[in-house]
Amino acid sequence: MTEQAQIFIDGAWTGGEAGRCGDVIDPASGQAFATVAHASLADLDRALRAAARSFAEWRTVSSYERSKLLRRAADLLRQRTEAIAALVTREQGKPLSEARLEVAGSAWYAEEGRRAYGRLIPARAPGIRQLVVKEPIGPVAGFSPWNFPVSQAVRKIAGALAAGCSIIIKCPEETPFSCIELVRCFADAGVPAGVVNLVFGEPAEISQYLIPAPQIRKVSFTGSIPVGKRLGMLAAQHVKRCTLELGGHAPFIVCADADPEEAVKLGIALKFRNAGQVCAAPSRFYVHERHYRRFTDAFVAGAEQLKVGPGTEPGVNMGPLANARRLEAMAGFVADAEARGAKVLTGGRRIGNQGNFFAATVLTDVPEDARLMVEEPFGPLAPIARFSDLDDVIARANSLPYGLAAFAFTRSERNATYLGDRLESGMVSINHFGIAAPETPFGGVKESGYGSEGGSEGLEAFLQTKFISQVGLREAAA
Ligand code: NAD
Repeated sequence: MTEQAQIFIDGAWTGGEAGRCGDVIDPASGQAFATVAHASLADLDRALRAAARSFAEWRTVSSYERSKLLRRAADLLRQRTEAIAALVTREQGKPLSEARLEVAGSAWYAEEGRRAYGRLIPARAPGIRQLVVKEPIGPVAGFSPWNFPVSQAVRKIAGALAAGCSIIIKCPEETPFSCIELVRCFADAGVPAGVVNLVFGEPAEISQYLIPAPQIRKVSFTGSIPVGKRLGMLAAQHVKRCTLELGGHAPFIVCADADPEEAVKLGIALKFRNAGQVCAAPSRFYVHERHYRRFTDAFVAGAEQLKVGPGTEPGVNMGPLANARRLEAMAGFVADAEARGAKVLTGGRRIGNQGNFFAATVLTDVPEDARLMVEEPFGPLAPIARFSDLDDVIARANSLPYGLAAFAFTRSERNATYLGDRLESGMVSINHFGIAAPETPFGGVKESGYGSEGGSEGLEAFLQTKFISQVGLREAAA
C-alpha cells in the first residue's frame, strides 16, 4: 500500500511534518487501499500563516480576475470529470454515473463573486456620501463531509475565493483523493499559493485548533447536528462568523390530488441516490390514504428492482454505504422500528459480508416516536406512513427540531401555496426536485443550521459589511 493522499499547504503537497497518517478504505470491499496524511499542529500553523499572508493579496485581486480563475478551475474540473469521478466511486462508493454528475456539476460562484454589491444611502446633509461596501471577511476554516466529497468542498472553496477570502479546508479523511483533485484544479488554474490550503487529520484536533486561531475570521461546516453544535459553540466563543449546514429529516408529502406514479418515481430516485446519504434526501414519506396502498406497493417494487453493488459495475443503481459505522446505524434504526411494531416490507438487512452494502429498505407502521422517525437516518431506509388531513400532516412534518428540505406532491395550486407557506423548512420543493443549484440558496432552519450556500446568500456568508461616510473637501471646509 504505497499510495498516500497528501495535504496541500502554501502551494506545496506534503506528507505532513509529523508523518502521521490513517487508512483510506474502499467501501465496496472493506479493504484499505491507501493512506491519508494527517496534519500536525505545526502543519496547521503553516497553513494559518499562508492563509493570512495570501489573503492580504487575494482580497485586492479584482472580482473579474477572481471570476476568470474560478472559471478556469471549473473548466479543468469538467475536463477531468472522468478521472475524478472514478476516484469518488473508489473511496465513497456511489455509482459512477452519480459520481460523474457530482463532479461535472461542481462549478460554483464564478459569476456570483462579481455581484458583491454595496449600497448608497441618502444623506441628511448636502455633500455627504454614505456608502455601504462589502468586503471579504478574511481567512476561512472550512469543514466538508464525505457524502459528496467534491460538490460539498467546492461550495466552501469557491465561495471563499469568489468573495476574496483565503481558506484552509479540512476535507473528509474517508474521501481524500477526490478532494485533492478538486484542489489541484484551483492550483492549476493559477490561484496563488496559500489561498487554498487542504488538510486532513483528526477532525476534533483540527477544528479546536483552527476555529480559535486569530487568523481565522469565518467558519463553515457541513455535517452532523451534534458536531455542528460543538463547532458553533466554539465559533461563538471566539466571535467568529459561522455557517452551519447540518442534517435534516425531510418529509415527502403525497396529497390526495397528487399523481402517485410521478411521486413514486421521484421518491425512489431521491431516497436511494447515494444510498440515502444525502442531507436533503426524503426520509419520512407521508401518503394520503387514497394513494397509500398503491404508492406503497409501487415503492416496494421499485426498491426491489434497484441493483445494489460496487459503484464501478455497470448497471448498479446503489453502491455501498460510505463507512462501516453507517451499516451499524442502519441495523440499529431497523431493529428499533421492528421492536416498536413496524413492518419491514423489503430490505432491512446488510447484503453479503464484504463491503458496506445495505438493501434498499421500505417500512410501514413505524410509530412516530421510533428512532427512524425522529433521528436523521442518512441511509437507504424509507418509512411510509398514511394521512387523511393536510393540516395534520403538516403538523407531523413540522414536529421535529430540524428543517432542511421538504417535498410535496399536489395538483392543486392552492395546496402548493399552503404547503410552501407552512412547512418549517429551509427549502421546499413541490412536484419536482428543485434544490441545490449554484444560483439558489441551500440551507436549513431550526437545528438544521444557519446560513446558506449558493446564490447571493451563499456569497454573503463570506462578506462583511463596512459603512463609509464621507464628506467632500469643499463641504468639510465650509
Ligand atoms: P459524525 O458526526 O462523526 O461526523 C460528521 C462529519 O463531521 C464528518 O465529516 C466528520 O469528519 C466531521 N467531524 C466529526 N467531528 C468533528 C469535529 N470535532 N470537528 C470537525 N469536524 C468533525 O458522523 P458520521 O458518522 O461521519 O456521519 C453521519 C452523520 O453525519 C449523519 O447522521 C448525518 O447527519 C451527518 N452528515 C451530514 C452531512 C450533510 O450534508 N449535512 C454530510 C455528512 C454527514
